[in-house]
Amino acid sequence: MSTYFSVKTLPFWLLHIACVAVFFVEFSWGYVALAIGMYYLRMFFVTGGYHRYFSHKTYQTSRWFQFVLAFMAETSSQKGALWWAAHHRFHHKHSDEDIDLHSPNRGFWYAHIGWILDSKNEETEYKLINDFARFPELMWLNRYWVVPPVLFAVTIFLLGGWAALVWGFVVSTVLLWHGTFTINSLSHRWGNRRYETTDTSKNNFVLALVTLGEGWHNNHHHYQASTRNGFFWWEIDITYYILVVFSWLGLVKNLRPVPAHALNPVGKSSQQD
Ligand SMILES: [Zn+2]
Ligand SMILES: [Zn+2]
Repeated sequence: MSTYFSVKTLPFWLLHIACVAVFFVEFSWGYVALAIGMYYLRMFFVTGGYHRYFSHKTYQTSRWFQFVLAFMAETSSQKGALWWAAHHRFHHKHSDEDIDLHSPNRGFWYAHIGWILDSKNEETEYKLINDFARFPELMWLNRYWVVPPVLFAVTIFLLGGWAALVWGFVVSTVLLWHGTFTINSLSHRWGNRRYETTDTSKNNFVLALVTLGEGWHNNHHHYQASTRNGFFWWEIDITYYILVVFSWLGLVKNLRPVPAHALNPVGKSSQQD
């Protein structure tokens, strides 16, 4: 039980409880739209930043935009970008083995939230992320990862008051946690497998909509180096479409494509990241 409940995990649970505040603040559909908007805005940075940039380096960008990616991803309250990416690299190295941090073999709840609350996983393994740990501003953001979510919450409050804070930050952040964590829990359980990877990853259309493209998780475990997770036009991958628009604007460059050999279901899965 101590995995889930401790002084350090208190903010996580308090934010869940704070969701009941929706019954005590003014209601309008505009606030619901704000919650959804802030969910998807930040989900983009979780997948386009934490995941496709810091964890897998599937495209390139400038030093200042890299900072924006880390800062905005951290407004999701999922800890530092270096922490997130180092743990994710470890997951790919050991997916579904016993030491995998969110191995589905450890039970649904541990794979979903237990691993992130577990004090054993608190430290950043800098040796897994030394390519980004050389940037002092990223090291700072990794250490003081609470700064972006607090600034984000304060900004929403100053612009919109209590109801905006409750919907646009509290509810939205709790949904964003669980939306993101479905990739570790449900995406290793529900869906189809196109590729015979060595893990239990699945492709799931609904989860791809919830996570802006991360639901094509079997594709991703099969070939991690490409910027897109949806390999075919019908595999909707909004994060990728946004990154393409960013590349037109010159914010990012060299998005890595899916090579023809990786599309083939009988092809061998690539272990490179
Ligand atoms: Zn990944
Ligand atoms: Zn996975």
